[in-house]
Parts: sequence; C-alpha cells; structure tokens
Amino acid sequence: MKEREQVSIVKNVENVEESLRLCLARIGGMESVVKKGDKVLIKPNCLAACAENTGATTSPELVGLVAKMCFESGADSVTVAESSNWGVDTMTAFRVCGYEEAAKEYGFELKDLKQGTFREVEIDGAVLKKVRIPSVILDADVFINMPVLKTHDMTTITIGIKNSSVGISADDDKQTCLHHIGTFQPLPAELACRGSFLDYSMVDINSAYLCNLTIVDALVGQQGLGAPLSGKPVNARMILAGKSRAAVDAAGCKLIGYEPEDIPHLVFAHERGMGPIDIKEIDTFGFDLEENCLHFEPSFVPEIEEIDDKLTVVYGKGCKACLATINYAIMRHREQLKELEIPVTVFIGRVPHYKPDNSKRLYLHYGNCAGQSLYGGCFVPGCPPRSRRQFLQAIGGMEFYDPDENFVLTR
Ligand code: SF4
Repeated sequence: MKEREQVSIVKNVENVEESLRLCLARIGGMESVVKKGDKVLIKPNCLAACAENTGATTSPELVGLVAKMCFESGADSVTVAESSNWGVDTMTAFRVCGYEEAAKEYGFELKDLKQGTFREVEIDGAVLKKVRIPSVILDADVFINMPVLKTHDMTTITIGIKNSSVGISADDDKQTCLHHIGTFQPLPAELACRGSFLDYSMVDINSAYLCNLTIVDALVGQQGLGAPLSGKPVNARMILAGKSRAAVDAAGCKLIGYEPEDIPHLVFAHERGMGPIDIKEIDTFGFDLEENCLHFEPSFVPEIEEIDDKLTVVYGKGCKACLATINYAIMRHREQLKELEIPVTVFIGRVPHYKPDNSKRLYLHYGNCAGQSLYGGCFVPGCPPRSRRQFLQAIGGMEFYDPDENFVLTR
C-alpha cells in the first residue's frame, strides 16, 4: 500500500520551542532535512512592515527557533530571505517585524532577495517556460518554506505555494508576470476554464526548485476582508509541518475550512507531482482537520456600488488586486466618502479612456492597467498601487485616513 504523505500539526501552542520540536519530531526531525555543512535558506512571509501579531507575517521567534534547530543539525549557515510586496522595502519590513533582533539572537543572516542576483531557469510550465529564481535559493543545499496561514482575495488561500512563488520574485516579475501579463495574455480556453494565470504561474515557479520542508506559522493567522495584508488576525496557536508542498497546503486549506480540490493552484501542484491534496491520502498523525476546523472568513471582494453619486467605480479587465484595495477603502470610509466635495470616478483595470464630460468630477485612473488617461485626470501608478492611503491621497481625502489597528505601516 502506498505510504501516505505526512503532515504534522500541533495545536494549543504555548511554549513555541517545545511545540515546534514535537511537530518536527513526528516527521523525522530537523536532522532528516539538514546535514552537516549545509547552507540553509529559510523563506518566511514578511510581505510588508506588519508586526507578527497582525497575522500577516511569519513570527521571527518561530523562524529563529527553526534556524537554531538547523544549526543543531550541523548547518554551516542559515539565511532568512524575503522579497516583500511590490514597492515595499524588504529590510524595513524585516526591521518592523522584529527580524533584526531575531537574527542577532539566533545567528542567521538576513537577505533582501530584490537586491540579489537572479538566474533564469528553463521549465516546462503550464504558462511560463522560463523563470527567474534568486541565486541564493538555487545555491542553497536546503530550502525551508515558512508561510503564514491566511486567506487571500485572489487565490482564496495563501500558504506555502504562494509564499515560495510570488514571495521570491523580483518586483518587476511580481508586476509583469504575476499580475499584469496574467491579466492580459489570454490563456488558452482549456487552461482558462480551470484557473487564472496567477494560479498556474505560482505552480510553475515552484517547479523550478526544490523545497525540502514547509513549516506553517499558524500561531496567528489572518482572515477576512483585507487578508492577506490587513485582514483580521486569528490567534490559532498552531504549527504545521511537512515535506510535501502540496500536502501541507492541502492540510492547511482544510484546516481553515476550504476544500483543497476547489483551489486551482493546489490542484495544479498535485498534478505537477508536488504531493497529494486529497485529505484521505495525507497522514496527520490522528489530528482531525474537520473537528479542529478554524473556519476562516474569506477575503472576499464584493461588488462595488456607487456611493450617492460621490464615488463611481468603473472596473475593466484586470485582476482583483486593485479592486480589493478600492473596495477595502470604501468599506472603511463609506460614510466619509459620501461627504466628498468633488465627486470621483475611479477607473480600475483596462478601460476605454473616456473623455471627461464633467469638469466638476475627478477622474482617477488607479493602477497600471488603467494607465495614465489620455485626457488628463489623476493617475496612481503601481501593479497594484501600494495602499489605500495612496487612493485617499489622490482624491484629496487624507483626513479620512487612519492606520489599521494592530497594523504597523511605516511608509
Ligand atoms: S494594475 Fe491592478 S488590476 Fe492591473 S494587473 Fe496590476 S494589480 Fe491587477
């Protein structure tokens, strides 16, 4: 009988080190992954300058303890590397998240992947035939993925497979490859009916290098509107670990209340040989995923309606990232937006360049897809633009702005 892929899950975590050791011991311990003299690369999720208690970023303590265990197993060096969200300075994100202190305490090195070199790797991907992978990842002996357990507005869930694809890419690849081209390069019908360009490209990137171990930080996860950056933190106090990319993500997916078979990138990862996603084929050491289900709220993107003629959103062809930001801004500031002195029309995605017919209206083109209007008006560049704050700035509504609770924003 075929052996089931193992995913170890511990809950009710109080002492993080004890729980981590217990979690890894079940799957052979760190010594089954790291050998004497190895160069280890750890990839956390430090997408922005958010404290770990927001559930957006991987706990620096957990990362530090993993580094400690790598050294105990004989690692020669441990590098913790990240490429934060488009436009975000990775080293600032590391500092705000507490990684500088952890690096000193546990003896690992911090690396901003955006500042390093990349090597082109040829792959037989579904949508990509060449990908640029950071040299430091290709040169490592061991790659350990350390994502956070979260929901996502474009991919429903984000765990390991997304962290080791979009999260290792250069800024221009994040834009052109994963968002922009994904939106405008039509997929062949047989691919388009099963998933988006982003779903396929995440798996393509993962196929270009090996991942030896995934350890999911579910101490604090994130759910709901705004996730994976500014959603609601969930104090789940769990850690998951396994050696199969797809199986760990499938177990995490089920744990937060979603069916792995409904998530296109998990289905594609399974089809590309990255492991099982059928829960029956995964050994969780007796941990019942249904009984312990955390029922994370989706990071849904509801329809945007007009607000009393003060704000109209015209949504053209594009991915959901710009829409999600505008939607979040509307949810946060609905009442204030009704008081705008100059009404605003926001264009998102590829839309025809309308000639403004009303000089008393502000026309805002939000994001690179919308582009700078031929007829003037306001343009917020980015793919996606960096934040809700830029939107409010562009419409003259900065007095509405207040930082999210528990959300440290340094820019
Ligand atoms: S500009 Fe916005 S809508 Fe267009 S691809 Fe980028 S993030 Fe998506």
